[in-house]
Amino acid sequence: MTAYEAAQSLQRREVSSQQLVKAVYERIEAVEPAVRGFITVLEQEKALAAASRADELLEKGQAPSPLTGIPMALKDNLCTSGIPTTCASRMLSDYRPPYDAFVAAKLQAAGTVLVGKTNMDEFAMGSSTENSAFHITLNPWDGERVPGGSSGGSAAVVAAGEAFFALGSDTGGSIRQPASLCGVVGLKPTYGNVSRYGLIAFASSLDQIGPLTRDVRDAALVLDIIAGHDARDSTSVPREKEHYADYLGKEVKGFKVALPVECFGEGLEKEIKDVVMQAVGKCAGLGVQMTEASVPSTKYALPAYYLVAPAEASSNLARYDGVQYGLSVRDEENLLSLYWSTRKQGFGAEVKRRIMLGTYALSSGYYDAYYLKALKMRTLIREEFVKLFKDHDFIVTPTSPTVAFKIGEQKDDPLTMYLNDIYTVTANLAGFPAISIPCGFVEGMPVGLQVIGRPFDEGRMLQFCYCLEDLLGIKGRLATIDIKEGK
Ligand code: GLN
Repeated sequence: MTAYEAAQSLQRREVSSQQLVKAVYERIEAVEPAVRGFITVLEQEKALAAASRADELLEKGQAPSPLTGIPMALKDNLCTSGIPTTCASRMLSDYRPPYDAFVAAKLQAAGTVLVGKTNMDEFAMGSSTENSAFHITLNPWDGERVPGGSSGGSAAVVAAGEAFFALGSDTGGSIRQPASLCGVVGLKPTYGNVSRYGLIAFASSLDQIGPLTRDVRDAALVLDIIAGHDARDSTSVPREKEHYADYLGKEVKGFKVALPVECFGEGLEKEIKDVVMQAVGKCAGLGVQMTEASVPSTKYALPAYYLVAPAEASSNLARYDGVQYGLSVRDEENLLSLYWSTRKQGFGAEVKRRIMLGTYALSSGYYDAYYLKALKMRTLIREEFVKLFKDHDFIVTPTSPTVAFKIGEQKDDPLTMYLNDIYTVTANLAGFPAISIPCGFVEGMPVGLQVIGRPFDEGRMLQFCYCLEDLLGIKGRLATIDIKEGK
């Protein structure tokens, strides 16, 4: 069932939230050994207590949202009061935040039920969830493959039926790429649409929180709950509240879609291209106009991203000094060795690599050559996007150049790993909303199609994807996946 379908049953009182929670915990017990998508699974009693409150409200007809009573999961970089929030790092392995992230509080107020915190690449740096300090996560479609990353745990638990939906964060593709690799829907909202209050920062000018769901309708319903202005995030944009679910089912005739040639050429596996192009071809049936376009600056997107993101990360992660937050290696002879030992033990290899890259790019003498140049590229990319969106409604690309790769295959080759983000980083650099929806299969593994929209045009983006999803007719396969149990 999708979250929406389960919510319909809840509202008709055919099932209770407590029953849903019990079913989800049974599913977790059965398949989690073969998925390992969670870092923390909440005690069932806690989830049942929240479910019983939801049941009371549903009984009285006072459900605060359309998803009241639905079990869900949060990525482990979203602060949850009193519940471990580790960022999959040894640095924060004992951290229990004293407060809830904006999105966690919103979901709680909406009556949804938290069942666990999901695995991720440490500090959200990576594309495979292999950089977690604790354990890897397996792709529910094939246990020898990665689920993508960094929100790999969130994508895997949704694909495996261990939660009806989950939240992830996306700095350069971390919601969309794992969604693509696990055959679920993943939405990165416009920068400023969802408050980052309580999201542990990676690269603040790129980070956005968004939903991973079984279908497009669920993504709209979750976004309805988590979007909106928050004074505690200075980059949160004050706007009138939208109702994204209202867009679903409306006609899309006349929409204009651009297909950038740069995203369908070198580096893209032929089988993926064929599947995406087939899906694109079906859009003609919707009365949507498709035209080839060119966004020449996209070839600089990846290098620009891998300067801007590490630069911001090196600054954001300076706070983990063994004094204020998390791990502290004491018994050192002086302050410098306290910093040294704490950071040496607390951070994994990829995080250290990013801190070094970022510090270098920001250092005096290199700032202009690297960081400033990357910022200029970022502006250029944004300008090209703005121009393209003058006479197009959406840009369509593959989400990822390959299907899920084998565990260990890219782990020791950071540059190859970075190439996974080739089609996703542009939307973060420009700040535009983007979504990945399943569009087919290659060798039995799911393939995602990415739609990028205009700033704050999530409503029409969802409207378009809802039609496309219906046309593609593969939605049913997502909920019926089965896992070799107990592996
Ligand atoms: N894979 C990209 C990286 O490693 C994106 C990560 C993200 O979006 N958090 O930086």
